[in-house]
Amino acid sequence: MLQIYNTLTRQKEYFRPLHEGHVGMYVCGPTVYGDAHLGHARPAITFDILFRYLSFLGYKVRYVRNITDVGHLEHDADEGEDKIAKKARLEQLEPMEVVQYYTNRYHHDMEALNVLPPSIEPHASGHIIEQIAFVQKILDAGYAYVANGSVYMDVEKYAKDYPYGKLSGRNLNDIVTETRELDGQEEKKHSYDFALWKKASPEHIMHWPSPWSEGFPGWHMECSTMGTKYLGEQFDIHGGGMDLMFPHHEAEIAQSCAALGHETVRYWMHNNMITIAGKKMGKSYNNFITLEQFFKGEHPLLTKPFSPMTIRFFILMAHYRSTVDFSSEALEAAEKGFARLQEAYTRLLAIQPAAAAPNEEIHQLREACAEAMDDDLNTPVVLQHLFDSAKLINTIADGKKLINEADLSELKDIWECYGIHVLGLRLSETEGMNSVREKAYKGAVNLLLDIRQAAKANKDWATSDKIRNELQNLGFKIKDGKESYEWSL
Ligand code: ZN
Repeated sequence: MLQIYNTLTRQKEYFRPLHEGHVGMYVCGPTVYGDAHLGHARPAITFDILFRYLSFLGYKVRYVRNITDVGHLEHDADEGEDKIAKKARLEQLEPMEVVQYYTNRYHHDMEALNVLPPSIEPHASGHIIEQIAFVQKILDAGYAYVANGSVYMDVEKYAKDYPYGKLSGRNLNDIVTETRELDGQEEKKHSYDFALWKKASPEHIMHWPSPWSEGFPGWHMECSTMGTKYLGEQFDIHGGGMDLMFPHHEAEIAQSCAALGHETVRYWMHNNMITIAGKKMGKSYNNFITLEQFFKGEHPLLTKPFSPMTIRFFILMAHYRSTVDFSSEALEAAEKGFARLQEAYTRLLAIQPAAAAPNEEIHQLREACAEAMDDDLNTPVVLQHLFDSAKLINTIADGKKLINEADLSELKDIWECYGIHVLGLRLSETEGMNSVREKAYKGAVNLLLDIRQAAKANKDWATSDKIRNELQNLGFKIKDGKESYEWSL
């Protein structure tokens, strides 16, 4: 039975859904004002694994992952320029052009990483009416106040009735010393109060009418609103990166409790961070590498391009609650590891069954994989089981051991279930070619074209034309230079 670590209770708990057979899960998605980087790939892949595994277990899962396209201000508090509006100003674009452009690119990257699309992907800007209604509920309950057209959460009042800070383990005193003095603070009763609605300043281009002012919702408001809109006033799982625990998720809990009088989320799950030389990777740290830079190998810290499946495999090699330190060497090791699994799977598909006694190792493999996944999604252990079984596959494929028909189909099914469906690894595709295959493919084409150059030098036009025509029929473009050639597919 599946156990997951609940950040709220700080322990592993058996997962029991609110409604039998159904799971509602909400994950904080990206703020779309730039390309996705490795730090974005981790929550996407972590909760993709959860989505896949819950579906694999037979649950009907409604997975909501939002797009933040308004209200996320430059300072993670609620001050500064809107991140999307700033990008739009700098690029002289309509903010929604920025949103569409980066949302498309995000989807493209996610597809490359084999991250399944969520069931619903709501935009914050498409839920302004619902957010205003949610703010009104908090005001009606007496846990918020209006100041100069903005609405703020009255954290001190709230903290008297509910435990504020219980998710992140902070108390109000810690929070006071952490909160920077920023402009707009004078409107607030306390520095730890956060904005539910902000009055737009004249230069702020994204704004909507509300009972309090022409303005825009606070960043935390969208997730409380869209989570409850699509999953109900109580739902099973809320996930996100550990960096969102405070203030974002803490604020979400406060908003929901204040408006509804009870908690919304039963299991809070947080993935750990990706670091570079021990420091968190992120846009605000200016040490990030975008996914596209990984795929193309275009970054000074990268020794070469890395395929999306190498990135996925690299992330799954660590448990989602441990940190992952990025280095090009670690990615090269992941690439080799993934190639070993791909090769084993290819060999597995070619094995012929024979008369042989049942194999105990295969018998235990399925249960071992299930046990690892049930243990708070322990993907590195599942991978270890697949590596062990790869050794067995190689022994059989080398002819040193036999396998009977039932065991062979069981083994194929386990690899398909856990390798392909649950872990989402593209084990049998040549499209995400690993470097060994790519080297062999390029070498073979160059070899043919070298032979053609030699034929041309010998005025053997028949051979030279045959090679050129056949390669062109296969879809290659060949450009002849004086003594050289260039080609592309
Ligand atoms: Zn969120």
